[in-house]
Amino acid sequence: MKDNTKSLNQAHKIRAKKKWGQNFLTDPNIVNKILDAALLQSGESVLEIGPGKGFMTRRILARGARLKAIEIDPDLVAFIQSEIMAPDETFTLIHQDALRYDYQNMSAPYKVVANLPYNISTPLLFRLLEEKTRITQMVLMLQKEVAERITASPGTKSYGALSVILQFFADVKILFNVSPHCFYPKPKVSSAVISIIPLQKPRIVVQDEGFFLKIVKGAFLYRRKQVLNALVCAGFSEEHLKIAFENMKCDPKRRGETFTLAEFACLSDTVYKYLY
Ligand code: SAM
Repeated sequence: MKDNTKSLNQAHKIRAKKKWGQNFLTDPNIVNKILDAALLQSGESVLEIGPGKGFMTRRILARGARLKAIEIDPDLVAFIQSEIMAPDETFTLIHQDALRYDYQNMSAPYKVVANLPYNISTPLLFRLLEEKTRITQMVLMLQKEVAERITASPGTKSYGALSVILQFFADVKILFNVSPHCFYPKPKVSSAVISIIPLQKPRIVVQDEGFFLKIVKGAFLYRRKQVLNALVCAGFSEEHLKIAFENMKCDPKRRGETFTLAEFACLSDTVYKYLY
């Protein structure tokens, strides 16, 4: 590695780009807390999304992990390539959009550790969920509001499709909050670190997982609508839905946000039965 002053000067020359959600961590204690929460073992396979200037990357490597990092910004890729020297088998830097990366290239099992770009955190979470049987844990820095949505309970303002889907596939827990002062530039929002541990099997067995996801997303498409109307707007047949609600002895005037995970699973299976 280059001498520290030279590296810092180089790092300062790279301006943070808003379009790629670049708020770089500056507090080593926060990184250590993230890596402690991930219980990183030497030799373990780890994925970092958005290594930025390598603040967390260096510390992951120092713990002996075999790391793949995916970065979209060519300036940061060039910076990391010139700064972080590690044997090929321990560190691979991939210059790509993490939303398009083929995660089958990761050797499983692996953990994901990242300070995510907040502007694409939700689609990234859905991409990573596709890897749920191969990922053992994700420890992610997110916008606090997103972390609260993921862990929310039914009947609360934050409860939505993200809560139901993540809790269906994983154990989720907010570990700690992080102040904007721990980043440069300071984000306008507060942050939180969350642990997501994918379950071996979904929390509740449903007939068709794809159909379940469509029902959940449809139910929250228009938050203010009653669930029946929301699902009709999402393209489901009103006739089938009415039969399903009657069969479930469930009030179709309820809103999606009042449905528990078990109720969504039951609704999905009942509608599915009438359709197929
Ligand atoms: N890990 C660094 C840190 O903690 O200081 C940087 C975190 S910063 C919040 C997000 C990082 O993700 C930036 O380096 C940004 O360039 C990168 N990024 C943004 N969009 C991306 C994408 N679609 N694919 C890969 N990396 C992306």
